[in-house]
Amino acid sequence: MRISRRVVLRAGAASTAGAALAGAYANLPAAAAERRQEPAVWRELRRSVSPAARLYRPGDPGYPAHATADNQRYASVRPAGVLSCASPDDVAAAVRWCAKHGVPFAARSGGHNYAGYSTTRGLVISLRPIRHVVPRGRRLHVGGGATNSDVYAARDAGLYFPGGRCPGVGVAGLTLGGGLGFNDRKWGLTCDRLVETCVVLADGTVVRAADDENADLFWACRGGAGGNFGLNTSFVFDAVPVDRLRATVFDLVFDLVLDPRVAVEVMDELQHVLDADRANDLDLRVGFRHAGDGATSLSVLGQRLGSEDALRRLLGPLLKLRPAKAFIEERGFWSAQDYLMAPAAREAHASKSLVPERWLTPDTVTAVAEWTRAWRPGPARASGFVTLFAMGGSSDAPRPDETAYPHRRATFVLDIGTTWRPGTAQAEVAPLLEQIRTVHHTLRHRLRTDAAYVNFPDPDLRDWRRAYYGANYERLVEVKHRYDPAGLFRYAQAVGASGSR
Ligand SMILES: Cc1cc2nc3c(=O)[nH]c(=O)nc-3n(C[C@H](O)[C@H](O)[C@H](O)COP(=O)(O)OP(=O)(O)OC[C@H]3O[C@@H](n4cnc5c(N)ncnc54)[C@H](O)[C@@H]3O)c2cc1C
Repeated sequence: MRISRRVVLRAGAASTAGAALAGAYANLPAAAAERRQEPAVWRELRRSVSPAARLYRPGDPGYPAHATADNQRYASVRPAGVLSCASPDDVAAAVRWCAKHGVPFAARSGGHNYAGYSTTRGLVISLRPIRHVVPRGRRLHVGGGATNSDVYAARDAGLYFPGGRCPGVGVAGLTLGGGLGFNDRKWGLTCDRLVETCVVLADGTVVRAADDENADLFWACRGGAGGNFGLNTSFVFDAVPVDRLRATVFDLVFDLVLDPRVAVEVMDELQHVLDADRANDLDLRVGFRHAGDGATSLSVLGQRLGSEDALRRLLGPLLKLRPAKAFIEERGFWSAQDYLMAPAAREAHASKSLVPERWLTPDTVTAVAEWTRAWRPGPARASGFVTLFAMGGSSDAPRPDETAYPHRRATFVLDIGTTWRPGTAQAEVAPLLEQIRTVHHTLRHRLRTDAAYVNFPDPDLRDWRRAYYGANYERLVEVKHRYDPAGLFRYAQAVGASGSR
């Protein structure tokens, strides 16, 4: 594997970059459609990768298991091939092959992208087999295809970096877009712990990106989102020794059907609780949810590093609001993370997000509670939810332009979504999408923000450039031009893409 220190080409002006890239995108689909038909072209791909790599084409026994990503909303998008890469060299060979033959492609690690951006009708370049997690001193070296569960499985090393809640989410997508979890208030976002990464560029060369080498690419890899600048085959994280730590997990559930006013009181108490958390030991998410079967609830789920007694004292006022469920338990650090982990069923879902810098007023809380109660699940019995991830603490320590992730003054990241069974008719899905649009519209105005989280991508978002990246967008386009001048890495909302959506 050749690691090039050379940085490719100088950047053009940021303002013209989008237009130039758009031109490069334009010719691709027609050429690609022809190429996909040619068996000789696919044989060339097989020959150019290692014997350990696997290529799955439609009709191959392994194809169905590898073809679809997590979000079943995009299950009808069938790739012409899925290459399961065994090494960074395989990834580089696949990128070169796609560039040579004009075959569209998408990288896939955990496959959990909300908007189907790791799905394509061309070649899926899957990095899943590259999933080592190796400790070296205080650092964890992680393969580009590892998931949260791979990181937790390597717990014998006693080292941890903040990750997400779903075991199947890929470290790649999580890190490249930011990375929220139950430890970001204490130790920062996932991307904040990244110290270096190796990236396969558009010309098939591999570069190391860190503070001391390709620093602009390294900046972009911390919040600039996956699939934009190259394919990251490995990551190195500055980890935290956690074996001696104790954490107390909690899950309080309030019934919204009985009394929606309780939501206002809960949010009011939570503001005091989070304000009092000077050491950032507490992290939580608040979930307004209609389960689809009529049950509506407000949950407060999280952990505090430290003893159960201390947490009970802190949550005292909340417990007085008489939650229907109040689970509180002190555990070792890893056992606490196991409790908070939640594997998600393979369903179809759609999401919108907002990243406000202000707290929710009582009127806004009431509006969300009422929306939850009024949710119409339709014949599909689909769920509807607004989840608020508490931010602050170490997650807003960096300046907004210090990494590509810009939202460093946020109170919460809101995930506004719906989940339905695969195979549900489009006519039943449309009213679900309309309902999440409605509450998103309400909250956008009430919270006075258009900011959105790039790891909860929304294909319907119009001004996604500002929403995801704020003032960092121009610099991201410059980095894109420098490392991917022809715009090989592309998808509907790729950095530098043209079009309003
Ligand atoms: C059930 C569920 C739970 C979630 N929970 C959380 C959470 O707790 N916190 C949070 O912050 N987010 C969460 N997310 C969102 C998640 O962070 C993003 O969807 C993330 O991008 C997924 O990463 P992935 O590798 O699994 O996705 P993929 O779909 O594989 O990839 C995501 C994007 O990155 C590109 N990509 C993939 N691999 C690479 C690579 N190696 N190099 C370069 N580009 C690559 C893809 O082409 C795609 O554009 C959740 C999502 C789901 C569906």
